[in-house]
Amino acid sequence: IGPAHAFTPWTALYAYRPSLESCYGDLTSYISFVELGLSADTDYADTIQELHRLTFLTNSDCHSPHPVRLAREFTRFEVGDATFTEIKKAILRTGGNKPVLNVGLPPQEGKYNESACISCFTHYTLDEAIKRRWKCSCGKRIKKGVRDRIGEIATFKEPQHPAHRPPYVYLIPLSEIIAKALGQHTPFTQSVTKRWDELITAFGSEINVLLDADLGEVARVTVPAITSAIQAFRDHKVIIIPGGGGKYGTIELPTDDGPVVPVSLGPKNSQTSLLDY
Ligand SMILES: [Zn+2]
Ligand SMILES: [Zn+2]
Repeated sequence: IGPAHAFTPWTALYAYRPSLESCYGDLTSYISFVELGLSADTDYADTIQELHRLTFLTNSDCHSPHPVRLAREFTRFEVGDATFTEIKKAILRTGGNKPVLNVGLPPQEGKYNESACISCFTHYTLDEAIKRRWKCSCGKRIKKGVRDRIGEIATFKEPQHPAHRPPYVYLIPLSEIIAKALGQHTPFTQSVTKRWDELITAFGSEINVLLDADLGEVARVTVPAITSAIQAFRDHKVIIIPGGGGKYGTIELPTDDGPVVPVSLGPKNSQTSLLDY
């Protein structure tokens, strides 16, 4: 048993409660995992001491069947076979089974990363929001972002990872990267779908295209703008403008127009290949 999208501001455990115990009472010891939700990652959650004993799942639901939403996140387990019993053992980390990798969106891309108005999506710092009593200048509600909520309940300033915590790899949906490279405003256009299909046909999966495929081979299949966008993603140069108030974060590709401050993608070690895990 465990709570899903545990930090989001609408219906989540930590939106309403300061701790597991205050929610589950004497059943707290039955909680074995927490699903992080799109707007949080391992670094956020491991600032909270009571979560250290839990397994983290990155399996946020997709809400629509479009490839940009489907399987944006997943957890890789070491299991004997893909059965419920084996996966349960992996979540409980018994019998040698365990999670070995969490894969998810950069938390800044989530819909509730920063505190923001649910109507006009103006972002506010925690102090501003409190001063305004969570009312936007447009009159509507400001929703507390996951980043600010975790800041309130954190035990530590910096994440402290327990030894069993697997690495976390950040993924940005391939069609978002293609859309930006082609100068399209959404990933739902025909030209984006065409380029996406080309790459998936050639390399089998988004993850292979994003992380593993040889860029020289990618260049042979697609247009130069998309190849350099994938290169930028691998080099951590994609800029993320955080989401909030129910609106996803957006990405920008690096330009030559001068320095931009990229959002750091968590752990400093470079994420070269999923095969490393
Ligand atoms: Zn959901
Ligand atoms: Zn507003």
